Amino acid sequence: MSFNNLGLCKPILQAIAEQGYTEPTPIQKQAIPTILNKKDVLAGAQTGTGKTAGFTLPLLQLLSEDTRAHSKSPIRALIVTPTRELAAQVGENVAIYGKHLPFKSAVIFGGVKINPQISTLRKGVDILIATPGRLLDHVSQKTIDLSKVEYLILDEADRMLDMGFIHDIKKILALLPKKRQNLLFSATYSEDIKKLSNKLLNDPVLIEVAKSNASAQSVQQVIHPVDKARKRELLTHLIQEGKWKQVLVFTRTKHGANRLSGQLEKDGIAAAAIHGNKSQNARTKALADFKAGAIRVLVATDIAARGIDIDQLPHVVNFELPNVSEDYVHRIGRTGRAGNEGEAMSLVCVDELELLANIEKLIGRKITNVKVPGFRVDPLIEAEPIQNGRQKNAKQGRGRRPSRGAKNMRMHR
Ligand code: AMP
Repeated sequence: MSFNNLGLCKPILQAIAEQGYTEPTPIQKQAIPTILNKKDVLAGAQTGTGKTAGFTLPLLQLLSEDTRAHSKSPIRALIVTPTRELAAQVGENVAIYGKHLPFKSAVIFGGVKINPQISTLRKGVDILIATPGRLLDHVSQKTIDLSKVEYLILDEADRMLDMGFIHDIKKILALLPKKRQNLLFSATYSEDIKKLSNKLLNDPVLIEVAKSNASAQSVQQVIHPVDKARKRELLTHLIQEGKWKQVLVFTRTKHGANRLSGQLEKDGIAAAAIHGNKSQNARTKALADFKAGAIRVLVATDIAARGIDIDQLPHVVNFELPNVSEDYVHRIGRTGRAGNEGEAMSLVCVDELELLANIEKLIGRKITNVKVPGFRVDPLIEAEPIQNGRQKNAKQGRGRRPSRGAKNMRMHR
């Protein structure tokens, strides 16, 4: 099944093609037609299932179908998320999928100055992505008008309730027009979610997809502590000892991806790199070679990997941990899908202990630490700052110098 017969217009299809997506994910297959039918939706889907495009694509379509002249872009769609990170991520998705459409979108969350947000809102916004607290700050300052909202999306609603946002959500609901389409996305169905959906949704269509990642049971996650200078050697060792035929390896930077794939080639392991600086043709070829088994290792950056349509890989390796913890979840979601066994390995050096701690906090558990014989960590090596790679938002303190605590942490956990 391709995207072509889902009822999406050309500018959206073009943006999807530019992302390299060839086929809708299960949640997209169900959600897109349902939302286009103007039904309220209660969707059970976790991060990694493609849920964001699942609501963003039909939302953009619905907005573009309505040709009424809207003067000064009133907010027509409101997407509420529990965290700043998720808001930023959804905002990126809206911008990407809507890049050939004329809509203006904006992301507002707390922890940053409110004035620039006010001037953005003043200029007119069609699609607003917001966290509840800052949204209500704007309401109380009368710098936002929610009276024209036609579409409300609550993303990761269960997390919103866990974080105690129920009162904020109720306040927000009271400000919206009665007649609107509502979409509620949640990874779990608790009693509280049921209560919220009963209150919010009108004859909803229930959409559920199998758990596909996050800390999916089928993905075995380990970290291998190693000195930075010996990571490549360890990777080659793992590939050769394990006789791996197909492995997706993540690096933090484009340059790092190029360098690593070149080094692996020198070790006699067929490899290719894909990242944003490669042409679409080069990416397509690398992917085809990888799928056909002509290359064993595909080295990718986070952004490039988003467009990769490969599931059920036996091995995913984090050559470097991502600066953005959510990227870890996306990365490991590439393996062990649909009940297949998968293995996600992270090669972690002393510089990355703070990133590791953030990831473990996000996924809610410690990742098993496995020391590979012959790769003892040198306890005298001190942590150095990580300065490169995808940063979500400099203000949120990612990718900064390791704290003193991290610096003094040793790999012997
Ligand atoms: P999400 O569950 O929305 O966080 O998306 C998980 C990842 O899947 C993101 O990196 C998306 O860019 C990617 N993605 C979404 N839809 C597709 C698709 N149809 N084909 C390939 N990748 C996709």
